[in-house]
Order: sequence, then C-alpha cells, then structure tokens
Amino acid sequence: MKKVIFATGNQDKMGEIRSILSDWDMEIQSMKEAGIALEIVEDGKTFEENACIKANAVAAQIHEEGVVVLADDSGLEIDYLNREPGIYSARYLGEDTPYKVKNEKILERLKGVPKEKRTARFVCAIAAADKNGQICVTRGTIEGYIGWEPSGANGFGYDPIFYLDAYNCSTAELTEELKNQLSHRGKALRAMRQKLEK
Ligand code: IMP
Repeated sequence: MKKVIFATGNQDKMGEIRSILSDWDMEIQSMKEAGIALEIVEDGKTFEENACIKANAVAAQIHEEGVVVLADDSGLEIDYLNREPGIYSARYLGEDTPYKVKNEKILERLKGVPKEKRTARFVCAIAAADKNGQICVTRGTIEGYIGWEPSGANGFGYDPIFYLDAYNCSTAELTEELKNQLSHRGKALRAMRQKLEK
C-alpha cells in the first residue's frame, strides 16, 4: 500500500483525519488533491452503507495498484429524537443552514427534557476500497449528552451542543488533540489503520 485517498470534500474533517493519522508513514490525499471530482448520492440507510457507497464510487476511478480509498460517514444520534438527525446530520434543516441555527433548533426540541433523557452519540463508519472493490468497514462512537446551551469554539458542526460527562464540557471545548483521542472518527480511523496494516 502506497497511498490513501480520503473521499471527502469537507475541509474540517480532512484536518481532523490528517491530525489523527499524523504518525502514520503514508501519503494521505484528499479527493481534490487526487484530482477526483465526484458528486456522490448518499442513499444508504446506515452510516456503514453510506461510507461504502462513497469509498466504492471513488475507488472505481482508481486504476493504480496500492492506492486505498477511505470514506467516512458520520453523524449525531440523539436518543430522545429517535436517533435523529443520524445519517441526515449534514442535511438536517438543509445542507447550507448554519450550525448555529441547527444547534439552536435541537436545543429547542429538547427544551424541558431532563439530563438522563438527553443522551446522544457521535457515530463514524469508515469504509476502505481499492480498484478491485471493497476491503473492510470500521465503526467508532463517542457517548455524551446534549447540553442546554452551545459552548466552545473548537471543532465543527454539532460539537458546541454535545457534552461529555467525564470532562464536563462540550466537544467544542476540547483541544484538537484530546478530541481526536476520544472521538468517533479517531476510534474508527485508528481501527481502520490497524486493519490495513495487517
Ligand atoms: P457526513 O459528511 O455525511 O459524514 O456528515 C457528517 C455530519 O455529522 C457533519 O456535517 C456534522 O454535522 C456531523 N458530525 C460528524 N462528526 C462530527 C463531529 O466530530 N463534530 C460535530 N459534528 C459532527
């Protein structure tokens, strides 16, 4: 294996991925850096299905040996909202709606809900594929709860409203290093790296 292409156009995610895999002696490119531009319809029913759809679609463009395409699908599951927004996390209230608005809406929907019913988790599935097809899938999760107000300026997306009991703060208040150690994406990516190294 000589190169990994990560199938995402999201720069925030790409930054986290590079940082999580920074001690891996491997060339890591974004789709853009690899010169691949694809509109992929994510019509799977699970995080795993969507990750596989993305990885397979990009891998179909690869003709070189030793190049592995990784794709992730991630999102926030809120138990009180029947695990919404789930696989629709990026599209919740519209793809272009600012997260400030999405987060406020979620807080409003949980108004009056006690802490024990505010449980939530970030989920991340990562799929690997190469020019010959799919290789494997991993999943990572981080358990937390939805707080009562947004807090913190690090991270992205739903981080300001997702709180961790053990740290008594939101994931937007963690340093990048700590978030990557604990996060769904960190866990799923490290598991994937282990599988690929075997
Ligand atoms: P994807 O690009 O389809 O995987 O969309 C994932 C969406 O889930 C993101 O756009 C965010 O809304 C949300 N999400 C996933 N991981 C995180 C995270 O680490 N922090 C905050 N929001 C996240």
